[in-house]
Amino acid sequence: MDKNSLITLPEKIATLPLLRDVTKHLKRGHLWIFKDCFDQNSNQKSGIVELIHKKDSLGFGIYQDDTQLSFRLLFLNEDPFYKKNNIPLTFKLWSEHNWKRALALRAHYPNELTNSFRLINGEGDNFAGLTIDIYNSVAVIKHDHPVMEKIWNHERLTEWLRRDLPFLSCVYLKRRNHEEEKGMNLFGELPDEIVFLENGAKFASNIRDAAKTGFFLDQRDNRLMIKNFSKNKDVLNLFSYTAGFSLFAALGGASSTTSVDISKAAIVAAMRNFEVNQIKTPHHAIALDAFEFVDQKLKEKTKYDLVIADPPSFAPNQKAIPQAIEGYTRVFSQALRLVKPGGLFAASSCSSHITYEVFMEICQSAMSKANKRGRVIYLGAQPTDHPYPLMMTELRYLKFILFSIE
Ligand code: SAH
Repeated sequence: MDKNSLITLPEKIATLPLLRDVTKHLKRGHLWIFKDCFDQNSNQKSGIVELIHKKDSLGFGIYQDDTQLSFRLLFLNEDPFYKKNNIPLTFKLWSEHNWKRALALRAHYPNELTNSFRLINGEGDNFAGLTIDIYNSVAVIKHDHPVMEKIWNHERLTEWLRRDLPFLSCVYLKRRNHEEEKGMNLFGELPDEIVFLENGAKFASNIRDAAKTGFFLDQRDNRLMIKNFSKNKDVLNLFSYTAGFSLFAALGGASSTTSVDISKAAIVAAMRNFEVNQIKTPHHAIALDAFEFVDQKLKEKTKYDLVIADPPSFAPNQKAIPQAIEGYTRVFSQALRLVKPGGLFAASSCSSHITYEVFMEICQSAMSKANKRGRVIYLGAQPTDHPYPLMMTELRYLKFILFSIE
């Protein structure tokens, strides 16, 4: 086994026997295998493994010993790309091939209008568990499971990032916000604040304490849509985070914008974003529970021309789905009550356990609860730098619908 790849290989790779033949599922492009396909009594440790079925080697992947999702495929020995080109598959070739493909998909980034984008989207780029986002001259690496830190070779990732994106001044490893050590510089030094561009708008983030890798890059296309529909409107942005939608509404000519988020830090950052763009549009930035805010406005009988509601994920797992459906229905029906007749409403959800179909049903229930009727003007999703394998619809997580309200 070669060592010169993006994966840190152990001296000896453990084998992981499959109890059932799931090769068809893997060959069709699904990359995950759940716990029930493996021996529950084995003491297999998290790490790189060779997947075996009836003594045949199928390929290589990552084993996670503490989650229902137990195995995440890196590659099959019978990978069609290598087979067709008749080259023996190695970790090095596999790394190079997928890295090049990821870069090619983002060849239009950075550009004059946008210098923030996702370079590596985990499974969507064939790199299980690995996220790399670019914010101007800073690359942020984030893993979705602690074992990934031992698997992805940070030294080589940094080397390839610097080689292919020579404008980078820092490569930063970000850990989850609740983890003791929040992150570390792999190259250069993370500045206190980084200002980056999204479709011509400036955003500031301190990366270190911000959500995700520093920003919600996935709403990029949907924010642009809000810009198109904001002219001369009073716009309310519920669950605003750092006011991404509000900023685009202002740039689109909104008469006023209001951002509401429970997090004080998000509201401070929201004000900063309006400041860095030198926007004169009135912006009311309010640190408050969105439900409380809506109740207040209903009492005051204040209404808006355009209301956006992008709550956090209410469904962390399969079990929480019924509760999440109820939660989203309540949020959207309340928010809809603040829309002026003839106004617009945008609903969004980032929960991967809520399918687009279920999301539409939630919107239908919310409308009828609020006694409103809506027309769909735009169905949005995650942008092109957030690809996913066709077979893994669970990774098509972002839903966004813009409605015109009767
Ligand atoms: N639309 C944003 C992302 C929203 S993420 C963007 O484009 O960047 C969801 C946000 O909801 C988080 O910032 C979180 O702080 C906020 N939030 C969670 N519970 C809330 C509540 N009860 N009231 C208001 N905001 C809440």
